[in-house]
Amino acid sequence: MFNIVQSIQSPTGDTVLGTLYLRSNLESKYNEVSTTAVIFVTASLIAAVISIIVALLVSRSITQPIGEMREQAIRIAKGDYSRKVAIHGKDELGQLAETFNQLGERIEETQEAMESERNRLDSVLSHMTDGVVATDRRGKVITINEMAMSLLNVTNEEAIGQSILTLLEIDEEYTLRKLLENPEDMLLERPSNDSTGTNLILRIDFSMIRRESGFISGLVAVMHDVTEQEKNEQERREFVSNVSHELRTPLTSMRSYIEALSEGAWKDPEIAPNFLKVTLDETDRMIRMINDLLSLSRMDSGNSQLQLEYINFNEMVNFVLDRFDMMVTNESKKYLIRREFTKRELWVEVDTDKMIQVIDNIMNNAIKYSPDGGIITVKLMETHNNIVLSINDQGLGIPKKDLTKIFDRFYRVDKARARQQGGTGLGLAISREVIKAHGGAIWAESRENRGSTFYIMLPYEPYEEDWWV
Ligand code: ADP
Repeated sequence: MFNIVQSIQSPTGDTVLGTLYLRSNLESKYNEVSTTAVIFVTASLIAAVISIIVALLVSRSITQPIGEMREQAIRIAKGDYSRKVAIHGKDELGQLAETFNQLGERIEETQEAMESERNRLDSVLSHMTDGVVATDRRGKVITINEMAMSLLNVTNEEAIGQSILTLLEIDEEYTLRKLLENPEDMLLERPSNDSTGTNLILRIDFSMIRRESGFISGLVAVMHDVTEQEKNEQERREFVSNVSHELRTPLTSMRSYIEALSEGAWKDPEIAPNFLKVTLDETDRMIRMINDLLSLSRMDSGNSQLQLEYINFNEMVNFVLDRFDMMVTNESKKYLIRREFTKRELWVEVDTDKMIQVIDNIMNNAIKYSPDGGIITVKLMETHNNIVLSINDQGLGIPKKDLTKIFDRFYRVDKARARQQGGTGLGLAISREVIKAHGGAIWAESRENRGSTFYIMLPYEPYEEDWWV
């Protein structure tokens, strides 16, 4: 209840006119106020809930695409380009998602391009006839192709991660710095991986891998098998030196004889003919040597075509041996030729002149290196696919270690003796080339001081008798 008691005074304020008593019931007002408060609180709560919901919805609409992009980024990092981020509108987030998808596509394209580039590079490297080894900047091998593995006789696992200096076994002479500062080519000798036990000669060219900034990021070594080239080069050098030496010796001796003659020996009827004979012999030997060299050089360059004819081989050998039988009476050294021929007539296709030159040469050697009165046995045999001609002497023989070398140019077992007997050291080399050109083989067997046997084997196809019927 609300009560007010108030005195009423006159305007002058000096007299009290009465008293005002006011009494009112405020219950309803309080009720009204509390109802309003309830409404206000409820409304505030509802507003708060709505704002929370709205805030949640708004934040979700932002975080969901960002979350999707995050997941997509993780998938791309793992190399899965198959999915795309959903685009929820044209706002900034939508644009970001679209850009993100484009970025994914570009990464996929770049990745594919790199992959195919790498495949191409791999296939180029593995089909290269040169060996290639690439290292990082510390010189550790990061790539090695098959050729390099085979040349260096290592596996991929052994090579990767190893220092290139250790791999090439040059760590004693070289440092990585030296290679990087002065990456020139080098020749390296490595044991070959086949069973021949020979050494391979590898030429290795080094080059640096430089980034555009100039930073050195590695080293590439390209290796090439130059064994054959080096061998040929070595042979060529030896050959030139041999030829010069072989020509200088007779020329020097001739010069001294001619000098002696010019200084008065020509007047001496005893000495002069002898000196002239020596110079004549030496000149003949030089001419023979030059002719031999020319025919070898023709065969080497492939200019000497075989003039093949179908001949009776037995008859051809008999013809050559008959000539030697005839010569025996004129020679100072006596010899006897024994023939042991197959009954069968052997018809083969050969270059008659060249074949006669080969048999002549072996017969001459057999006589030259035999004692006086030695027996030379010539056998002619046939196997199913070959004919074999063997010429055996009772001479001084050839040491085992020289048996294969005597077919090399200018190789002689006893240089002085061979030269003295007028040999050029080229006869067997020519014989080997001729027999090789006929598809056959030539070799020698020997026992020192007991004699030597030279074999010539030629391909042979026995003809059927009824062909001619
Ligand atoms: P040469 O002109 O010196 O005889 P060849 O090429 O014909 O040259 O022979 C090479 C070398 O092989 C000879 O110098 C000799 O040492 C050796 N030789 C060849 N045939 C015989 C043989 N029948 N007996 C012994 N040694 C031989």
